[in-house]
Amino acid sequence: LEPKEEFEHSSLAVDVMRPRRSDPALAVLTQEGMTVGEVEVRIQKSTHYSGFPVVVSQESQRLVGFVLRRDLLISIDNARKRQEGVVSASQVVFTEHAPAQAAEAPPPLRLRGIMDLSPFTVTDHTPMDITVDIFRKLGLRQCLVTHNGRLLGIITKKDILKHMAQIANRDPDSILFN
Ligand code: ADP
Repeated sequence: LEPKEEFEHSSLAVDVMRPRRSDPALAVLTQEGMTVGEVEVRIQKSTHYSGFPVVVSQESQRLVGFVLRRDLLISIDNARKRQEGVVSASQVVFTEHAPAQAAEAPPPLRLRGIMDLSPFTVTDHTPMDITVDIFRKLGLRQCLVTHNGRLLGIITKKDILKHMAQIANRDPDSILFN
C-alpha cells in the first residue's frame, strides 16, 4: 500500500476536468447530423477551445474522436473554396461511410481524415498523479474524461499546470507533483 500522505493530496480526474459544474456543457460535435453552418457556429461560439471531441450523438455522448479547431477551420475553408457544391447546408460527416441523403441535398463534407481516432482518455476516478504521469510520458496536450463509456469532460496541459499551482499554494510541502 501507498503511504497515507499520498492519498491525502491525491485528486481525481473529475476534480480537474472541464466543464466545472457551473460552466456551460462541453462543446462537442456529432459524427453526423450537423451541417457545415452549424459546425461553423459551434467553432465561433467557442473561440477559446483548441479542439472538439466528436461523439456518436448528443444523447449517447459516446466518444468517436477528437478534432482540432485549426484543422476544422482549414478544411471547411478549403471545401467552400474548392469542393464542388459544399455549402452551409451540407452535412458534415466524421463516419466512415457517407449517410444516405436525398438526391437534391448538397454534397456532404467528409472530415474523418482530420479526426484523431484514438484520443487519450481516462476515467473520472483516475487519480491525478497517474494522469500527470501519462501527460508527461506521452507528451499529451489534452485528454478526455469518461464515465461508463460516456464522455464527461476534458483536461488540458494548462488545466493540470493550474491545478498543480493551486496545490502548491495550499500546501507548499506537497511533493506529489515534484
Ligand atoms: P488550454 O488549456 O491550453 O488553453 P484550450 O484552449 O483547448 O487549451 O482550453 C481552454 C479551456 O477550455 C481549458 O480549461 C479546457 O479544459 C477547456 N476546454 C477545451 N476544449 C473544450 C471543449 N471542447 N468544451 C469545453 N471546454 C473545453
